Amino acid sequence: MIVDLRSDTVTKPTPAMLDAMMHAEVGDDVFGEDPTIIKLEKKTANLLGMDAAVFCPSGTMTNQIGIKVLTQPYQEVICYKGAHIYKYEGGGLAGNSHVSVRLLPGDRGRLSIEEISANINSADSHYPSTSVVALENTVVREAGSFYTLSQIKKISEFSRSKGLGMHLDGARFFNALAETGEKSMDFGQYFDTVSICLSKGLGAPVGSVLVCKKELEPKVRRVRKAFGGGMRQAGFLAAAAIYALDNHIGRLKEDHVRAMELGKVLAKQSYVKSMMPVDTNIIIFELSTGITPEKFLARIGEHQVKALAFSPTEIRLVTHLDVDDSMLEKAVTVFSKLSF
Ligand SMILES: *Cc1c(COP(=O)(O)O)cnc(C)c1O
Repeated sequence: MIVDLRSDTVTKPTPAMLDAMMHAEVGDDVFGEDPTIIKLEKKTANLLGMDAAVFCPSGTMTNQIGIKVLTQPYQEVICYKGAHIYKYEGGGLAGNSHVSVRLLPGDRGRLSIEEISANINSADSHYPSTSVVALENTVVREAGSFYTLSQIKKISEFSRSKGLGMHLDGARFFNALAETGEKSMDFGQYFDTVSICLSKGLGAPVGSVLVCKKELEPKVRRVRKAFGGGMRQAGFLAAAAIYALDNHIGRLKEDHVRAMELGKVLAKQSYVKSMMPVDTNIIIFELSTGITPEKFLARIGEHQVKALAFSPTEIRLVTHLDVDDSMLEKAVTVFSKLSF
């Protein structure tokens, strides 16, 4: 039995999801003729309480389109210093949008009004003009920390009062809601664009949606085309996504419970120097001096347990749909017996 804790992207479609895919009605989506994609887009827009949504191949693409439609070249985006849009999208913001970034520490990646306010540039032509505040929820680089609705409301109201756009990288948005119990449809009003990944904890094989304001939709579709993201009979993928939204949101809390259990066990081990709080489904810890991630991964790999090297000293583990209780038990046993 392999226990793959590298990422929540490794999930494979369940038999019921495959069945839904097999029976999808499809058409050419670039012609706007794929009924299943249209259904998915309506569904996600409604889920967020917004008017439009556009299905894309990846979360990187939905983030990149979101920033592109909210900025002009030479402008600046405010975000957390470890934000996915900055750190893990191949330099896309520079290449695609020609913008600079203002990187803030946040409280475990959660930005405050004070921090944002202090980093909005004045109109002086020396400075890039600040254009967008991009939030991430949950924050992957900070072990899945999350915002509450009231924090987001305050940031949005403040940012909009300064004329700034609001983008949300909600790759794991529903993981945040699994903890706060808040309703997804209350969030859309605070953003111009929201990226939701269907292929992380929700378990679809491919795809993300960019949920947006109605007036941005034509621009979003144009940029998606220009980025090469116009897909044809992708309703098969949309069917998997619809199935995921209908059946896999309610179970995300299970992943969190398993992550917290795993975190408790790991925190007691002598090879763990420090660990970030486990808030959702992500565990990040620092290895004790002298133990490299390569060495750690090789040792757990001997027992068919997989994790990810997250920095030269850190390991990341993520729980997801394809990690059940027997796998958790196996991981706990392996981590408890390990010594260096
Ligand atoms: C995974 C992820 C994305 C999207 O990544 P893709 O691999 O392009 O789907 C975006 N933001 C965050 C925070 C992520 O974890």
